[in-house]
Amino acid sequence: MHRFVCASANPDKVAEIAALLDGVVELLPRPADVPDVVEDAPTLIGNARLKAAAVCSATGIAAISDDTGLEVDALGGEPGVYTARFAGEGCSYADNRSKMLSVLADVAFGQRSARFRTVAMIVWPDGRELAVEGVCEGWIAEHEQGERGFGYDPLFIPADGDGGTFAQMSEADKNRLSHRGRALRGLVAALTSLDSQGRTATPDRGN
Ligand code: IMP
Repeated sequence: MHRFVCASANPDKVAEIAALLDGVVELLPRPADVPDVVEDAPTLIGNARLKAAAVCSATGIAAISDDTGLEVDALGGEPGVYTARFAGEGCSYADNRSKMLSVLADVAFGQRSARFRTVAMIVWPDGRELAVEGVCEGWIAEHEQGERGFGYDPLFIPADGDGGTFAQMSEADKNRLSHRGRALRGLVAALTSLDSQGRTATPDRGN
């Protein structure tokens, strides 16, 4: 079984990643002494790479990361890479949800289409990398619904769901539909395909 260090320290995300990879890869926690990474790349894949590369280089073990953006069509695709700090640096999940409700206050439900986009990535110590994107289409609700999940979950209604928000679903149902679930399942499939070609073995450096 492959062994990866999880590049995320966010307990909400780590819980989902661990559930999604359970029994498929061995996931080591991010060591507490690895400094926080400044996520200042202009793209999701750039930020995923910054996080995985930093943890991989600090531990010498292949690292797995994910980076997510929420794209709201009525906002021209924003907040995108700024999703975590939509309401400003250091803001809370609740601050971000309040700002989202306030900027969309005059937008009718039919115009509130949106999607979560996640890039899941592995970076190996020799510099090889693998990245896969997962997208979940949906809508921004007109008010918060549900208590589960984290972040924008009480506002996000996945198009393939039962009409409720992510925060109204079990973790298993969210993982089945979500951007992160799709990205990580795609990453595992890509890894399996590389395995079958013998391309994930550690190169023999001949020493
Ligand atoms: P990150 O860069 O992957 O940490 O994600 C950026 C921000 O997106 C987070 O701070 C959350 O506010 C939000 N986010 C990421 N994933 C989810 C999710 O699955 N549900 C709701 N919000 C999320």
